[in-house]
Amino acid sequence: MYAVINPATGEVEEEYETFTDDQVREAVASADRTWREWSLVSSLDSRIPLMRNVVEIYMRRRDELADIIHHEMGKSLEEAVGEVEFSAQIYAYYADHARELLADMPVDRLGGGTALVRKLPLGPLLGIMPWNYPYYQVARFAGPNLLIGNTVILKHASLCPKSSAAMEAIFLEAGFPRGAFVNIYATIDQVAAVIADPRVRGVSLTGSERAGKQVASEAGSALKKVVCELGGNDPFIVMSTDDLDEAVGYGIAARYENVGQICNGAKRFIVVDGLYDDFLGRFVEASKKLDLAPMCSEAAAANLSRQVHRALDEGATLVMGDPDNHGARFSPVILADIPEGASARHEEFFGPVSQFYRVADAGEALRVANDTPYGLGSYVFTTDPSEAEFFANGLETGMTYVNEAGADSAELPFGGVKNSGFGREMGVLGMREFVNLKLITHH
Ligand code: NAP
Repeated sequence: MYAVINPATGEVEEEYETFTDDQVREAVASADRTWREWSLVSSLDSRIPLMRNVVEIYMRRRDELADIIHHEMGKSLEEAVGEVEFSAQIYAYYADHARELLADMPVDRLGGGTALVRKLPLGPLLGIMPWNYPYYQVARFAGPNLLIGNTVILKHASLCPKSSAAMEAIFLEAGFPRGAFVNIYATIDQVAAVIADPRVRGVSLTGSERAGKQVASEAGSALKKVVCELGGNDPFIVMSTDDLDEAVGYGIAARYENVGQICNGAKRFIVVDGLYDDFLGRFVEASKKLDLAPMCSEAAAANLSRQVHRALDEGATLVMGDPDNHGARFSPVILADIPEGASARHEEFFGPVSQFYRVADAGEALRVANDTPYGLGSYVFTTDPSEAEFFANGLETGMTYVNEAGADSAELPFGGVKNSGFGREMGVLGMREFVNLKLITHH
């Protein structure tokens, strides 16, 4: 069911009809028509001003757009405004840099003649997106791809029908033709049919590992390219620092942004013995002062509570917090002494729960950090450059942030390894996922 259910009150504020099969088929047909009639004949130069219009509309309607996601998934208004602005920055960055990112790549030929590789669009793409950053997740996918000339079919999370409708309307208002960006309120079975449809040329999923396995296998059996941005269990390693309060501050921000519902949030704090008690003490104090917004739904908060209780049953120590949810509300919980082999060590806690690990040295820190099926991001705090290199090379993750957190930015590629998925969004790499890298020679 597609509906706006305000997690702060539990009230169903708006309901949206799920599409019929005919409506889904018409959406795919429209993305395909637009691809043939517009994308293939429109130039990059003509698409860039449309993307600049998108930026202008996001900024003009900033507060109204922020309010939509505040109601849909509970995010504080301040964070919601930040997300709208960040999404606008992403659209602006790709409008400003598309020419260089999509420039032909000349190849030095060994024989006579010239050769180059040109980045041409592939066609209609399906984007399957999660609720945690309703605008930002879509911007990472739609910004680059609409500039490339691909058309976009959006299947947003069932919690986000209003923000997805708002985005469809924004692209139309900006001057993109109908069908360049189409929103579908589809069931999972209908999504499978869209993935199988030969007119759809690629699929990008941001979501859970479970959805990733299904979507990747459906895309694989239809022989189409898929990008999977999945869950994470990111380590936050503290080996040495000149400023412990600053490191704690980064840890707090990296754990509690968006009420901890963040794929590359810091989830496991791995701290060297000499700093462990001090770091944990300051982290607990800072966590106690927080007044968090609700999680996205009561079901999500109840699921997190079940995970915490299971960790405690498996022998973890409750350092701080209430393991029970209260409706969609869940206040910070800190766990330590999680035994080897406990499921809590390996699963993603998608909310404000932190795990703490005391380690003797860098080798043990790396072993604990890599002891997870996930491989999205990682954070390292060290004053020793060679130790920073040791972790940057040894951590099995798609991103390592040294002595900082919250570095996500429009130009930086984002993505993971292992069960966190494959492919990249944003940056020079994101711009290459859904293109026909066509060789053109002249003699
Ligand atoms: P989810 O249940 O996988 O949902 C994500 C999207 O996939 C939703 O639109 C959902 O639709 C759809 N979906 C679910 N199962 C599907 C299937 N079998 N076939 C096709 N579509 C399917 O994930 P979530 O719980 O909403 O989001 C949290 C997860 O996303 C966490 O694991 C988080 O780490 C991950 N995430 C990753 C990144 C990243 O960049 N790596 C960013 C943000 C979040 P419905 O809503 O209709 O179920």
